[in-house]
Amino acid sequence: MSFASLGLSPFLQKELLRQNYTKPYPIQEAAIPAILRGKDVLGIAQTGSGKTASYALPILMNLDGKTGSKNRHIDALILVPTRELAVQVGDVFKQFGSVLPNRIKSMSVFGGVSINPQMIAMQNVNILVATPGRLLDLVNAKAVHLSAVKMLVLDEADKMLNLGFKKEIDQIFDKLPAKRQNLLFSATLSKDISTINQVLLKDPEVIKIEPETENLDLIKQSAYAVSEERKGPLLRYIIKQNDLQQVLIFTSSVYKADNVADKLRKNGIQAKAIHRRKSQLARTEALQNFKEGRLRVLVATDLLARGIDIEFLPCVINYELPRSPKDYIHRIGRTGRAENPGDAIALISPEEEHHFNVIQKKMKRKVEMIETEQIDLFKK
Ligand code: AMP
Repeated sequence: MSFASLGLSPFLQKELLRQNYTKPYPIQEAAIPAILRGKDVLGIAQTGSGKTASYALPILMNLDGKTGSKNRHIDALILVPTRELAVQVGDVFKQFGSVLPNRIKSMSVFGGVSINPQMIAMQNVNILVATPGRLLDLVNAKAVHLSAVKMLVLDEADKMLNLGFKKEIDQIFDKLPAKRQNLLFSATLSKDISTINQVLLKDPEVIKIEPETENLDLIKQSAYAVSEERKGPLLRYIIKQNDLQQVLIFTSSVYKADNVADKLRKNGIQAKAIHRRKSQLARTEALQNFKEGRLRVLVATDLLARGIDIEFLPCVINYELPRSPKDYIHRIGRTGRAENPGDAIALISPEEEHHFNVIQKKMKRKVEMIETEQIDLFKK
């Protein structure tokens, strides 16, 4: 199967090739033709499965030359749960939109930054990628109107509900016109998602992609048995011994993320922490620097476990385990993506051993446990 046979224009095909998208991923094979035909779609797929392009490409195709003419009336709305995902999805629209013959303006908006520049920039926007709260602020300020929306995407809908956006989403639904195409993407098919599906989608094309186990095959997992006090020194030892140049580390609290990053820096390893207490600017900057290889270590809370795509990330370290096995899989899923292999390392304290067994059972994988007591972590 090729992108050409999915019905995409030669302009998009050329850009896909330039970005090394040689053939469509399964979600794209299924979703692109359905969306081009105007069908509603329910996609059960993780980030990493290629779902952004699976809706961005046909939305751009469907709007090419057919955008609305009224100012501040957007044609397509993409709702996402986090600021980072808003930026990432917005970039995909910008990149592919830029090669089309007719001008399509896309923009990302999210909270935590000043609203005024967003209000001004909203002029002539056709495709808006937004987090729910900020979208409502903009709608209430009449900076944007939803009455001409032809296509709606709910991306990572399960995450949005987990983060408590239900009320805002309902308010947004109320402001949309009745006739529109609806696309719903979620990693899981929970009860809440089924409910939204029933309210929102009309006779949808249901696409279920289960990449978790496939993706896990690309990830080389290992675990180190270590006491809580020796985790810091072991972490530095692993980074130095393996000369790791781009590592994403997960902790379970904001405090720990700051603490781990501080200790790394004190020991001469360039590191930054990223979590909800950091300003939006600091978060964006740290993530951008990390993505582009200018920052060696990024220490994150679960804010980053989902939705963020970092190309060719070679290594993820779980400094502490997350509570849910699903989050563990999402965390390590930051590596081994887009068909590139990666390493996932877990530091397991005696207290965490039982929980780690549960995680291994859930993901149906046995991870080799390496003893570390004998290692001289302070050897120069
Ligand atoms: P997503 O699930 O949308 O976050 O996409 C995950 C990653 O896969 C992104 O880095 C995309 O650029 C990449 N990607 C998506 N579709 C393809 C494709 N057909 N071929 C190669 N890479 C792709």
